[in-house]
Amino acid sequence: MDFEFRDTPKLAEFRKEVRAWLDLHIPMDFEIPDNPHDILPGSTKYEFILKARRALGAKGWLASTWPKEYGGGGLSFEEAAVVESEVVKRPWSRFGVGDFFPSTITTFGAQLLNLGTEEQKKRWLPSILRGEIIRWQAYSEPDAGSDIAAIKTTALRDGDDYIVNGTKVFLGTQYDNADYFSLIAITDPKAPRRRNVGLFFVPTNLQGISKAWLPLMRNCHSSGWQIFFDNVRVPVEYLIGGHENATNAWRSMRETAVHGANRPIVIPIRDRGQEFVLDYVSKTKRDGQLLSQDPDVRDALVETEIQLEVRRIFALRQDWMTIADKRLEGYEGPQSAVYGKVAEEEQANAYFDILGPAVLMKDPEWALYEGNMEYQHFVPVAMASAGMTQEVSKMLLARSACKVGD
Ligand SMILES: Cc1cc2nc3c(=O)[nH]c(=O)nc-3n(C[C@H](O)[C@H](O)[C@H](O)COP(=O)(O)OP(=O)(O)OC[C@H]3O[C@@H](n4cnc5c(N)ncnc54)[C@H](O)[C@@H]3O)c2cc1C
Repeated sequence: MDFEFRDTPKLAEFRKEVRAWLDLHIPMDFEIPDNPHDILPGSTKYEFILKARRALGAKGWLASTWPKEYGGGGLSFEEAAVVESEVVKRPWSRFGVGDFFPSTITTFGAQLLNLGTEEQKKRWLPSILRGEIIRWQAYSEPDAGSDIAAIKTTALRDGDDYIVNGTKVFLGTQYDNADYFSLIAITDPKAPRRRNVGLFFVPTNLQGISKAWLPLMRNCHSSGWQIFFDNVRVPVEYLIGGHENATNAWRSMRETAVHGANRPIVIPIRDRGQEFVLDYVSKTKRDGQLLSQDPDVRDALVETEIQLEVRRIFALRQDWMTIADKRLEGYEGPQSAVYGKVAEEEQANAYFDILGPAVLMKDPEWALYEGNMEYQHFVPVAMASAGMTQEVSKMLLARSACKVGD
């Protein structure tokens, strides 16, 4: 399989155009803090992110391979890879890709594209792809995380509505408000497990919805909201795929988990931790010698650099398979997820070994890189479970490799 590519003269020309456009909208000298906590609503940086995201969206570049009729860019895989590889070079946070290519598109948008009725796609996809809608994923429950089929939230048909009751956990961040939830709930309690759930797109302002903050680990990426649905009336038009497909959510969740089916390209990786460490070792002496000359430090940094490159290639392969090759089955998606989660943790440990306990500090006197190393250190812990835990990713990898179903 040949998924890596070199610029043809036409692509090289396109790359120049993309760079010129990005220079205007996301200049190279623009930096945003690494810790999303520092990007507060109303601040210049926050407004800039929204503006830049919408500018990319208006261009069709938040989902550059998707059909133009729904607000996508209609580009080929190669052109889209050019766009994204240029976008990720812009100086923004490690989560910059997420900030600009939100999961509202990469996960829910893909589900809507695959499952939605024509009317639903036309109604919501264009504003989602323009980056105008923020949605939170309402899947996990107090007793249903990895075993998502154990959810208890119900959505029972009553005339032209579904009545939703239940509790969802670990949603969103404290600095943002969602316009919609993508919600899974049991629509047919008599149907067998996994064949009984529907996927809804629920406006967050419906009567009967309330929330409570869950202060878990520090940093917003490891906390979230608990959302309560108390006899919430959700009109049937918000059920993705329509009532005939009321119990079709499982397939789309699995597809998203296994291969991110039809997601727009998401190529990492500009790793801020690695950038900080490289900067630090090139300036800091220990025992009279620059750290960059220490063989152990050099070994560790070569290892982390290789891990970053493997992750980039895995992601490129995954995108190539789903977009260019249209191949949706395979172990490659879970392999990329498992490798990414494990590598992130190993990287954080390597940085700790090199920099020492200062990576655990946030206070101005001891912290490194304005406390950003602390953020870099804890995020992998949270991300090890986000979406699915490491163990469950491994299970999915084994099942995909052995072609075992659900
Ligand atoms: C940063 C972050 C953001 C999140 N954002 C969202 C969000 O926006 N929306 C949302 O709905 N959810 C969100 N989640 C929740 C996330 O999807 C769940 O944490 C995840 O599915 C794991 O569920 P759990 O936490 O209940 O752990 P559990 O499922 O209870 O797992 C506990 C432990 O048991 C292990 N385990 C469970 N089952 C098996 C098995 N079959 N075999 C081997 N080991 C197993 C797990 O690996 C883990 O170590 C988020 C989580 C995090 C950390």
